Amino acid sequence: PKCRGRGYANFPEGELSLPEALGSDGVRVTMESALTARDRVGVQDFVLLENFTSEAAFIENLRRRFRENLIYTYIGPVLVSVNPYRDLQIYSRQHMERYRGVSFYEVPPHLFAVADTVYRALRTERRDQAVMISGESGAGKTEATKRLLQFYAETCPAPERGGAVRDRLLQSNPVLEAFGNAKTLRNDNSSRFGKYMDVQFDFKGAPVGGHILSYLLEKSRVVHQNHGERNFHVFYQLLEGGEEETLRRLGLERNPQSYLYLVKGQCAKVSSINDKSDWKVVRKALTVIDFTEDEVEDLLSIVASVLHLGNIHFAADEESNAQVTTENQLKYLTRLLSVEGSTLREALTHRKIIAKGEELLSPLNLEQAAYARDALAKAVYSRTFTWLVGKINRSLASKDAESPSWRSTTVLGLLDIYGFEVFQHNSFEQFCINYCNEKLQQLFIELTLKSEQEEYEAEGIAWEPVQYFNNKIICDLVEEKFKGIISILDEECLRPGEATDLTFLEKLEDTVKHHPHFLTHKLADQRTRKSLGRGEFRLLHYAGEVTYSVTGFLDKNNDLLFRNLKETMCSSKNPIMSQCFDRNELSDKKRPETVATQFKMSLLQLVEILQSKEPAYVRCIKPNDAKQPGRFDEVLIRHQVKYLGLMENLRVRRAGFAYRRKYEAFLQRYKSLCPETWPTWAGRPQDGVAVLVRHLGYKPEEYKMGRTKIFIRFPKTLFATEDALEV
Ligand code: ATP
Ligand code: MG
Repeated sequence: PKCRGRGYANFPEGELSLPEALGSDGVRVTMESALTARDRVGVQDFVLLENFTSEAAFIENLRRRFRENLIYTYIGPVLVSVNPYRDLQIYSRQHMERYRGVSFYEVPPHLFAVADTVYRALRTERRDQAVMISGESGAGKTEATKRLLQFYAETCPAPERGGAVRDRLLQSNPVLEAFGNAKTLRNDNSSRFGKYMDVQFDFKGAPVGGHILSYLLEKSRVVHQNHGERNFHVFYQLLEGGEEETLRRLGLERNPQSYLYLVKGQCAKVSSINDKSDWKVVRKALTVIDFTEDEVEDLLSIVASVLHLGNIHFAADEESNAQVTTENQLKYLTRLLSVEGSTLREALTHRKIIAKGEELLSPLNLEQAAYARDALAKAVYSRTFTWLVGKINRSLASKDAESPSWRSTTVLGLLDIYGFEVFQHNSFEQFCINYCNEKLQQLFIELTLKSEQEEYEAEGIAWEPVQYFNNKIICDLVEEKFKGIISILDEECLRPGEATDLTFLEKLEDTVKHHPHFLTHKLADQRTRKSLGRGEFRLLHYAGEVTYSVTGFLDKNNDLLFRNLKETMCSSKNPIMSQCFDRNELSDKKRPETVATQFKMSLLQLVEILQSKEPAYVRCIKPNDAKQPGRFDEVLIRHQVKYLGLMENLRVRRAGFAYRRKYEAFLQRYKSLCPETWPTWAGRPQDGVAVLVRHLGYKPEEYKMGRTKIFIRFPKTLFATEDALEV
């Protein structure tokens, strides 16, 4: 057995489990040779895989580590995380302390190592940082984001003034989750929006403020849920946890079964969720983020009004025109939204058209009225969500923005955004989400290559260009002006009454027919045609093929709310509603931006924000669909390795040198292998390393000496050296 100092754990030694690998004194004793440990628990960094192009070897390494509850593995600086679906007790205050101030490679891979590395770079280099967390639904993105925030809230110094900001940063989460998360088939707490959060630090490294950007809330969930899924948490929380008095005021019954918007998924109760206690947390959090009692009331009125809206029924009169039959609901709605009852009734059953300067009211039939009602519910809810983000931002805004120290703040961004999605049935939403992933992938490749190149240059080592797939061609296909899919979609949305989802598809076929990443039934050859329906198009994404059904594309992209419903809401005396529905919207002649275009613009802005920062990556993987611990579903994981672009990532990282280490660290670890460097080397560490590797018989093609680091081309060189230690 060998006794080591604070283990340089990026080496392929066997970490047992984290607490063991890092004993209380930081010393670990291993009885096994490094080799057997390597066999058992895999390598801590995929760059050390001998067969780095083999997906099978990659997955085998993940599997070994997962079996040992080692959920984290690096690809160079990128952290790969596998959701353990069990509490591993690895996020305590002690764990935070262990990772503070130590170099990334001195300790086993961990989220906190990333957290600390990023924070130290922020402090010492004074450069803005961004941690991008990606992965499919249920992979653990939001959990990771929360752990990171917690790490900063607990370990960073408190600001001199406004210490409340730490609480606000933490407490914004339960509120956003209540309104933006829901139980889905994939995840009991699935984020139904994308989120980018900035945390601002002052020159002493204390958090002083924050800002949140949200992306594309899945608002269709307000009016419809698939079997086994729920509406947003807040509805159930309020019904379960709200006080008697509150519910009476809102005209609500406790039972979720009473509300049509809550019964579609047939699973109001979820064993892993305690709505009642969650509600308590949310209520408290609202106070922390500066909600007054009045504001809470206004907000709850809106939540309740959505439930009442869902219970509005219509019956057809003799002329087949819709009439509201649920007077009680209408009464509550009128009160909760503070609008005129007659106006609301009319708006729910008529459509106002302005023709030649004249206003015409045309009655709606049953189907149209239900459509209008649902559109209103979605608009009310999603605008309230946007308002909520704005409200949180006001509460997080640094109160010191005017002071001189403000100018020296640095920013650490956390991106928790939906991963690549491929379902049985893919629609407009998946199209947007996957476009978003293309953009982020492009940024990732650009930044990874750039940082590799920069390191080589900084170290004075010749850069050998890397061949890689540039997915710009797919981004262009989606976003290009005039010829891109979004442009064509928008164009069709400008022809109301004439255009349909299918005319959109035809136009697509005409415009992009020769694109290598685009296919439809008409364009496909005999062989591939079978798998494509007539109302579908297929994109060959960087992560694989996805077939989209065009049904609903126009409608979802237009996202229309009838004018008189808008007018009614603009007249609302509920202060939140009147902020959400601005009168200017009515007089604005310009057509509002379509959903896809808005999304595209917000993504361009996001990419710009991320580009200006130093990136760090956390790639989350979901091990099985059953949400269970200990199950490693290989097929599922292989898909994710592909979607996350991990093999490509590894290839880029391994293109030149597998491994690099500062001279001091390298010498410290291996000096015992050479009589000239043992026990101490008096000269420059670089010269010591030169002597050492010559003694070890490294061949010139196996390594290069940079300015501050040694670069080793193949893992086997390193393993041989590592094994020599054990002899
Ligand atoms: P979505 O895209 O649907 O929002 P997500 O990637 O944000 O998914 P999370 O909500 O973070 O997924 O994780 C899903 C669940 O998995 C969590 O509720 C938790 O039960 C479990 N989980 C995730 N990460 C961990 C972890 N590190 N340790 C223990 N359990 C975890
Ligand atoms: Mg999430």
